[in-house]
Amino acid sequence: MLAEARAAWLRAAEEFIGNPSSQHRLGQRADAALEEARENCARMLGCGAGEIVWTSGATEANNLALHHAAAQGGELWISAIEHPSVLEAARYHLPKKHRLIPVTRTGVVDLGWVASRIRQERPGMIAVMAANNETGVLQPWREALALCRENEVPFFCDATQWIGRLPAAGLGECDFVSASAHKFGGPKGAGFLKCPLRTTGLLRGGPQEHGRRAGTENVPGVLSMLAAWEAREKRLAQGEMGEKGRLRMEFARKLAEALPGSELPTGGEAHLWNTVCAMMPVTDCQNRWTVKLDKKGFAVSTGSACASGKEKTSHVFAAMGRCDADARRVLRFSSGWETSEDDWDALLQALRAVHQELDPRCD
Ligand code: PLP
Repeated sequence: MLAEARAAWLRAAEEFIGNPSSQHRLGQRADAALEEARENCARMLGCGAGEIVWTSGATEANNLALHHAAAQGGELWISAIEHPSVLEAARYHLPKKHRLIPVTRTGVVDLGWVASRIRQERPGMIAVMAANNETGVLQPWREALALCRENEVPFFCDATQWIGRLPAAGLGECDFVSASAHKFGGPKGAGFLKCPLRTTGLLRGGPQEHGRRAGTENVPGVLSMLAAWEAREKRLAQGEMGEKGRLRMEFARKLAEALPGSELPTGGEAHLWNTVCAMMPVTDCQNRWTVKLDKKGFAVSTGSACASGKEKTSHVFAAMGRCDADARRVLRFSSGWETSEDDWDALLQALRAVHQELDPRCD
């Protein structure tokens, strides 16, 4: 957690101990703090405060958006590379009423597919994420939003990977936007959905959030999330991500030189400044890469999702037209705000060393 977020959490836990729904002064004080945070959130997003619903994170926010889409009755079109909290929620809430929008081989949503059929088929909602969590590739959400506006189709953007890492300006124009605090230095267990006031609630049992999300609000979580986001936006306004993007590009370039046979499956697409997704030269040794790198002090991720102990090939790489063998070669490297050029170089050295240990063949 960012220092600002931790301080805000501790302050809120001491100062705002009342339940925001209570009528006494302790409750009203907590409610006032929550409403001020809502105003700040809406200002950064560029929307009305009444459009913000506090949630436990993006998974809940995404489920709320899709539950609402199901209640509206139209067909849902979602990109094939959405996070499982959108994909699986679509399968659950709209089992027979959703379609997948294809992506290019480099992992960008194919808006041509949407443009060629949106006018005739008029879906009830379209969902395109702002940036992909496995590849880091930025998605054309602004263009998708414009297409939706032209055709009067509600647009939903899961901006979990974008908010706090890139300026949020413009996202408030989407009908639905989700985010999660722990992605930008806030606490785990806090997030929000930007959505219309008349959104159909998923959690029932209380009038909170205008009936859109029952349950006592997490006041310290919300205040801490806003403190983190405000601090990030300030640093973003100072242009900090330009240098971070350069370090990322430099690492990606050196990686290709250092590990012959490695590949960058997303090529020259625009990426989040903190994510590099690469296919390692040695096949079927993904776990050995992660274990060996872990021992050297680098926590890296594979491109596959580990569900109940079983490795499943990533739906993202499958959608990009990659075979299982390719998807199993993928490693994802994510930097933080404090990551320096020396840190990236140290990772490169570690990768070289592991490659030598695993080469020529791993069995
Ligand atoms: N959407 C995207 C794009 C994500 O990357 C994640 C988490 O990694 C989520 C949704 C879910 O967020 P949370 O686990 O905080 O609910």
